[in-house]
Amino acid sequence: MIPQLSSLTAGILSTDLAAVGGRMHSLISELYPICRSITGEGVHQTLAALQREIPLSISEVPSGTEVFDWTVPKEWNIRDAYIQDSNGNRVVDFRQSNLHVLSYSVPIQAYMTLEELKPHLFTLPEHPDWIPYRTSYYKEDWGFCLSHRQMLSLAEDRYEVRIDSSLEPGRLTYGECFLQGQTEEEVLISCHICHPSLANDNLSGIAVAVFLAKYLASMPLRYSYRFLFIPGTIGAITWLALNQDRARRIQHGLVLTNLGDPNGFHYKKSRRGNTEIDRAVAHVLKHSGRPYQILDFFPHGSDERQYCSPGFNLAVGCLMRTVWGQFPEYHSSADNLDFVQPLPLAESLCICIQVVDLLENNRKFVTQYPFCEPQLGKRSLYGLAGSTDNLARLWLLNLSDGDHSLLDIAERSGLPFHVLRDAAQLLCEHHLLRTA
Ligand code: ZN
Repeated sequence: MIPQLSSLTAGILSTDLAAVGGRMHSLISELYPICRSITGEGVHQTLAALQREIPLSISEVPSGTEVFDWTVPKEWNIRDAYIQDSNGNRVVDFRQSNLHVLSYSVPIQAYMTLEELKPHLFTLPEHPDWIPYRTSYYKEDWGFCLSHRQMLSLAEDRYEVRIDSSLEPGRLTYGECFLQGQTEEEVLISCHICHPSLANDNLSGIAVAVFLAKYLASMPLRYSYRFLFIPGTIGAITWLALNQDRARRIQHGLVLTNLGDPNGFHYKKSRRGNTEIDRAVAHVLKHSGRPYQILDFFPHGSDERQYCSPGFNLAVGCLMRTVWGQFPEYHSSADNLDFVQPLPLAESLCICIQVVDLLENNRKFVTQYPFCEPQLGKRSLYGLAGSTDNLARLWLLNLSDGDHSLLDIAERSGLPFHVLRDAAQLLCEHHLLRTA
């Protein structure tokens, strides 16, 4: 039987990347104003917007549910918040930026002096015009974030402080998009949906995941694909706790984050370090022509640390451009709609599609002529001496002994995977190779 090694990348490579990136950026712009947190209305609104793009099933887990060593927290919602001076001016106003409120702030209404207020104010002195993003998920607290310059301008006064929020038993919500392939083996794509108006951190990963799901939805697929849109840490822990059987089907996975800035790529390897996904991403980045760095696993960062906890030890790495905490705009108002750009978003999507193409087509073959090379010339398969096509055919015919995958051969030959994929298809059609 002749295998169908279909190019999943042809569609994206023939598309206008700037246009795709523009559509991704529009989705980010639509989601940007929503005040998200690990629970609450902002997550619902975000998932409802994604449901208009891709088929998404939504799960709700009650507060108080025990998930391994954690407990699903109370649901947080916020309607308004401000600090008002004695003249009735809102000097800090949630309606201007949702970053102004410490996420998960408990409700408060009080009058206080600047001295009393100050322990509850957070600023970034090194970037005096930016508002920091801060949270207090697991310790009940309240606070405001503001630019350092704004804090310095606050005069002695009697301030009215009001946070109109609620922290009550409710639900933790996440979304799943499942694409059924030929096999039950799954590829996991995971991104977090719990940050308010931050573009690179959370929204870029969401945009790349949504457009990857849209793209793959029309393709015949060997693996099944599960896209998770979940609140960071507690969402991944909750999903894993409730889906331990399904987690065993995950063969390969990627956490997507920080994929919209124009910097070089970073890939953080899975805990196991030499899995097919680790090698696939390294191979695609090596041949991408873009600057990149491969990082060994470490136990902090994004949700890969839950998927790679020793009990699961899944083959899940993390693809990003800049690394969390290593760009000045990280967790601040400067991570905005100007910081993420259409072309870097589209490039990130392209890298993901090439990785999926590799996973889908990474098969093993057996040469039908193990005793010396078959004569390629008489089959019109011997091109220019030293050409890439010739080299690909010779490497395939030599290493296809049933033990070497196309990725093994790509790594050893230095040739790009897609060249070997197309050459293997041709050699199969000429009955020189068969699938192992
Ligand atoms: Zn973050």
